[in-house]
Parts: sequence; C-alpha cells; structure tokens
Amino acid sequence: MNGLPNWLTDEKGSADIAPLLAPDSPVSLESLAAEAKAITLRRFGRTMSLYAPLYLSNYCSSGCVYCGYASDRKTLRRRLDFQEVERELECMKTMGINDVLLLTGERTSDASFDYLRRCVDIAATLMPKISVEAFPMDINEYRALADSGCTGITIYQETYDPDQYNMLHRWGPKKNFLDRLETPERALQAGIKTVGVGALLGLYQPEKEALKLLRHVRHLCKTYWKAGLSVSFPRMRPQTGGYQPPFPVTDSFLARMIFAFRIGLPDVELALSTRESPRFRDGMAGLAITRMSIASRTTVGGYIEQNNDEKGQFEVHDDRNVEEFCFALQEKNIEPVFKNWEPVYNGPCSE
Ligand code: SF4
Repeated sequence: MNGLPNWLTDEKGSADIAPLLAPDSPVSLESLAAEAKAITLRRFGRTMSLYAPLYLSNYCSSGCVYCGYASDRKTLRRRLDFQEVERELECMKTMGINDVLLLTGERTSDASFDYLRRCVDIAATLMPKISVEAFPMDINEYRALADSGCTGITIYQETYDPDQYNMLHRWGPKKNFLDRLETPERALQAGIKTVGVGALLGLYQPEKEALKLLRHVRHLCKTYWKAGLSVSFPRMRPQTGGYQPPFPVTDSFLARMIFAFRIGLPDVELALSTRESPRFRDGMAGLAITRMSIASRTTVGGYIEQNNDEKGQFEVHDDRNVEEFCFALQEKNIEPVFKNWEPVYNGPCSE
C-alpha cells in the first residue's frame, strides 16, 4: 500500500524488542517477567486502575468479518435512550465505577456524533473520567467531545497489515486503513488527553502485529509527549457470527508480548480486559498490567438488567463481580484504584 508512514515500516524502531518476541528467543519468559515486574513496580507502584465499559448501541455501518455487530449480522439491534444511559451509569456508580468507557459501532444515523456527544454530557454529570471507543472523527468533533468532558479515546487498528486489513474489513467507513491509523493523532491534536491503541490479536501474525503496534506507540510518545498513552491486548474470543481467528495467540505468546511491551515502553499504561480468564488476569496483575476492566457487560446496557436473548460483542471470560475482583487484587497486595481523576481536569489539553 502506498502512503504508509516511515515509523510503521521502519523495523529499526522495534529492533530492541524483536529478539524478545522471536519464536526461538533465548530469553526465558521467567526472566522477562522479572524485568517487567521490577519496571512496573518502579513506575506504577502496587496499583491497578479500574474501569468498566458501557455499550451505548450496537448499530453499525461496517462489515468487519470478525465482529458479531457487523451490519450483515442478524443480531438484535438496540440503542440506549438518554434516560437509559443515565440509569445504567447510576447503576455502575453504585458498583463503585468512576472511570467509564462508552462504546458504539461505526457511525450510523442511530448512533451519530450528536448522540454520542449527548451521552458524554450525561456521563460527565456522574463520572469523573470518561473515554470513548466509537468511530474515527475529525478534529472539530474530537474537540467538541473534549469540551463535553471526554478525556480519552480508544481506537484499535485491529491489524497493522494493510492487505489483511483490506480483506477483513469488507465495507463501510472502517475499510479506510490510513484514516484509522491517523485517528489517534487527530484526537491528540484536538486536545483529547489520553489515547488507547491495540491490535485485535488473532487476525494476523502476532509477532509482526506486536512490533508494528510497538512502533505506533513509540511514534505517538515521541510526537505527542504530553499525551497519556495506553496499550491494550485484546485477544479474539468467541463471538456472534462464530468467526475463527486465523492466527490464534497462545497464553505464552501473549504473556511474552505484554512483558516485552513493559520493557520497551516503561511509562505507558498496559491494559487487559475481561476477555481474558481470571487465571491469566491475576497472573499479569503486578507483573506488567496497570489497567483493567472490571465486572464488564458487552451487551448494550446490561448493568441494570440482562437480556438473555441479546448477544454481546464478545464473550466475557472473567465474570467476577467488583468485590471478588478487588479481593483477588488485594490478595496480591495490589491496591484497586477506582478514581485518580477530577472533573476539573476535563476539557481539551492546553495548546
Ligand atoms: S468491529 Fe466495530 S466497526 Fe467493525 S463491525 Fe464490529 S462494531 Fe462495527
């Protein structure tokens, strides 16, 4: 593909970490874990920042072959109305949640920018920290979201291989690889304070994906040094539509990747969601991961009542409630952190 940026194609940008991820790496998983643990302790202490997702809508205009919410899937479509948004957030608040990630599919008339902005306005009356994982926007839209109290966006490239990307994203706005790749920069230029990136692990060769993702984060760190950056490690889980990942990622590779990222990106927040099992999440806490979702629902709404006919975007593997998960963290001498942000910090970053 023409027009790929140098930071993505130049392998020198990840040459220090590549040997740690190679299948024949002489560096043991145990020694990587020990190094990652020491760095995490020095930079982040014994803390885990906690957030929960709220799916606002599962309408979507794109055709990602791997997703149960793709526009050709015969799934029940729903969008929370504004009263439901408020009630769901109030329910999350009673669970102790203060850091919420609001999600939609790609832009549609049912879940438009105006709808999303209104939801951020509502969330800002209840939650100190609000992030959005929705659709790529222009700079003016991101600035408006920041004005409403959105402090962060999450946008996964899904796969960093342009050919594979083209094949998996069959139609819709998400088909544009470069537009998606440039989205984190537009958000940061607009004053959004934190950006979360990642690759959907299982869609392409994991080692290559990991190194390109690493180069992406390093490019953002270098160019937007004031930004808060986080990396997530979403690994494909069973989902509506039954798509089987062509490059399944083992526990051992995922652990190696997470440790290598901590070593290569000592100050960057590393996040792990409830897609992963309790055993794997507990193992990663205290070693390299510093941010986790908790008590997540992946259906639209879902905190007040569960509709058993409705399928989530993916299956949650760690279904422990807030108390159970916090207990597990405390057993490892890790402090669960629900709030580390004040609404007074909201609004766009100063220029
Ligand atoms: S991954 Fe996102 S954009 Fe793609 S089909 Fe699913 S909801 Fe839509």
